[in-house]
Amino acid sequence: MRVLVVGGGGREHALAWKIAQSPVLTKLFIAPGNPGTESLGENVAIQADNIPALVAFAQEHKIDLVVPGPETPLAFGIADALAETGIACFGPSRAAAKLESSKRFTKEICDQAGIPTAAWASFTDAAAARAYLAAHSAPIVVKADGLAAGKGVVVAETQAEAEVAVAAMLEAGIHGASGAEIVIEECLTGAEISLFALCDGETALFCGAAADHKRVGEGDTGPNTGGMGAVAPPPAATQPIIDAAMAKIIRPALAAMARRGTPFRGFLFAGLMLTATGPKLIEFNVRFGDPECEALMPLLGTDLLPILAAAAAGKLDPSAELVWCGGAAATIILAAKGYPGAHEKGGPIDLANAGNLPGIELFHAGTARQGATLVSTGGRVLAVTATGADLPAAIGSAYRAVDAIGFPGGFCRRDIGAKALPI
Ligand code: ATP
Repeated sequence: MRVLVVGGGGREHALAWKIAQSPVLTKLFIAPGNPGTESLGENVAIQADNIPALVAFAQEHKIDLVVPGPETPLAFGIADALAETGIACFGPSRAAAKLESSKRFTKEICDQAGIPTAAWASFTDAAAARAYLAAHSAPIVVKADGLAAGKGVVVAETQAEAEVAVAAMLEAGIHGASGAEIVIEECLTGAEISLFALCDGETALFCGAAADHKRVGEGDTGPNTGGMGAVAPPPAATQPIIDAAMAKIIRPALAAMARRGTPFRGFLFAGLMLTATGPKLIEFNVRFGDPECEALMPLLGTDLLPILAAAAAGKLDPSAELVWCGGAAATIILAAKGYPGAHEKGGPIDLANAGNLPGIELFHAGTARQGATLVSTGGRVLAVTATGADLPAAIGSAYRAVDAIGFPGGFCRRDIGAKALPI
């Protein structure tokens, strides 16, 4: 099978790494890929948002399956464009990708399908939003309806904070069109986990759970990032929790999307709050998480490629189950100093002492080659994943690998997974 993975981050490196192990793979391309994917297949110099060029490449190179990693090509309609050419794509149509791009849409699906989620209301009018706030006590959550690069959510501790958020989004327009409509919702408490399902439009297979670390600083402080590390499986994700999430959240959402005529195909990512009354949906994303993907791929025993191909064809076997290796995984993100603010690019990276450590995978995210030297291209630079018999072993091993990497311009959080460990 000839496969094109779209994207160039750590998630796409991890997907390509897993796909490259498949006996049914005959040729792997990654567009644009990164220095880490060079040894797995052929990197192609097409950016992930250039849909016409990606489709033309897929036609010209007789690709059997396209696997988009990031949300951008999905939001730009790569699945729809490929469908017109008859090329299989493991990713949702633009209409189904609305599960990520509109929070009100997701809330409506939740209501239609009886999916447990925070009580909510949506507004375009600031006065109506203020009236709602007056009738509901803080803490309360104010969200821009559309995509706002992770910055569109305010968990307001006080009424005053919530009112400031309403004014900023609806009156000052700080998120532009994405915040022209807002969702105000009940504040949930509990442990947060990411749960993934592999979907073919009708059938969903559980595809792992992980705990992400979004804030840049230790102890979950500082600004939000794309994710500073992940552990899998999180101890809070017990089998009853997973079963409940699949039965009450994932499968009803899939059925509701199919009923609307916009069946969901691809990785469905549920951000869940594990409340005292069971798992509740915080948000859906329509792609794998990054860095959760880098933690989960090394734990996956099943050959992923035939499953992705079956799902893209709408032919998943409902009785199939993915097989997981025992043990646990920890992924530590090495980022360029200053991230998520202004940060340096071009800092040298030396992997000589870390590349061949047992149980370690180094997934590249923001790296480039400058002659013989590997350099950072900014932001999140490397995802260092270790597997181990249990979480403490995986976390210890991941940090040993991090310490063996020479990257003077980089930093990482030192407490990835700490919350998941017994004190
Ligand atoms: P991201 O880009 O980080 O995926 P997002 O902008 O799409 O996020 P959400 O995932 O809906 O927004 O919210 C971001 C974070 O805000 C959540 O991870 C969670 O910690 C917090 N949050 C969101 N909704 C609630 C809620 N109802 N109760 C408590 N916390 C919440």
